[in-house]
Amino acid sequence: MSINFEKPLLKALKIVLSFLLTVSCTENTNSGSEKHQDKDSTEIVISLEMSDYESSMQNQGLVNIQKLDSSLVVDLKYSSTDNFFGEDVYGILKNAYLQEKPARALKAANEALMATHPNLRLIIYDAARPIEIQKVLWNKLDSLPPKKRKDFVADPLEGSIHNFGCAVDLSIYNSETKEALDMGTKYDYFGHLAYPRLENQMLQQGNLTEKQLENRQLLRKVMQSAGFEPITSEWWHFNYYSRKKAKELYKIIE
Ligand SMILES: [Zn+2]
Repeated sequence: MSINFEKPLLKALKIVLSFLLTVSCTENTNSGSEKHQDKDSTEIVISLEMSDYESSMQNQGLVNIQKLDSSLVVDLKYSSTDNFFGEDVYGILKNAYLQEKPARALKAANEALMATHPNLRLIIYDAARPIEIQKVLWNKLDSLPPKKRKDFVADPLEGSIHNFGCAVDLSIYNSETKEALDMGTKYDYFGHLAYPRLENQMLQQGNLTEKQLENRQLLRKVMQSAGFEPITSEWWHFNYYSRKKAKELYKIIE
């Protein structure tokens, strides 16, 4: 209810702010800075706009991980078209949220990484995921029978650990090259090459290089040092609690 009440207020505030900005920029700029003026207004307007998912997650007690640790890099793949189904389902949601304990553990993992590799940081592809989004992902894989689908996406009826704000999908980012490390596959690659349990086999067959394996091992090392557990089928996915424990502690995220 509060979301609906706040929306008109936010809209009004945005209009007033962009008007004030336009006036102040027009007053003290020369003709060459028009573009700059537009950019400033746009930036402020965007920062005021909050996704319904975001306000809902805040109301449910979830934590914006970059507020805990601003050196974490966030690149939500479902808030872009760079994902397995090529559609943006998060819209304007750009921030990553977790329950407080997993969020603090993630900060600890990032600190452990930076302590030994000052140019590296964790890069977050997905974190807390509202159940509505889980249904979208499940339906996107409807070409597969449900049993097979569960290898890649949790059934919304059971809920993924992401739906409780206790799981995170991530990789490692090099702040010098401005690129994520090579892990051998892209995020959300649905195939054996992404399976940690088949890494030795993939290495022997020449499908995975020593360096790619080393990068995955570094990710697992820092995440496990902070209390996260890897899974056997996706190198990027880590759970802070089991599904059973997460269900005991938290409600599913709406
Ligand atoms: Zn995941």
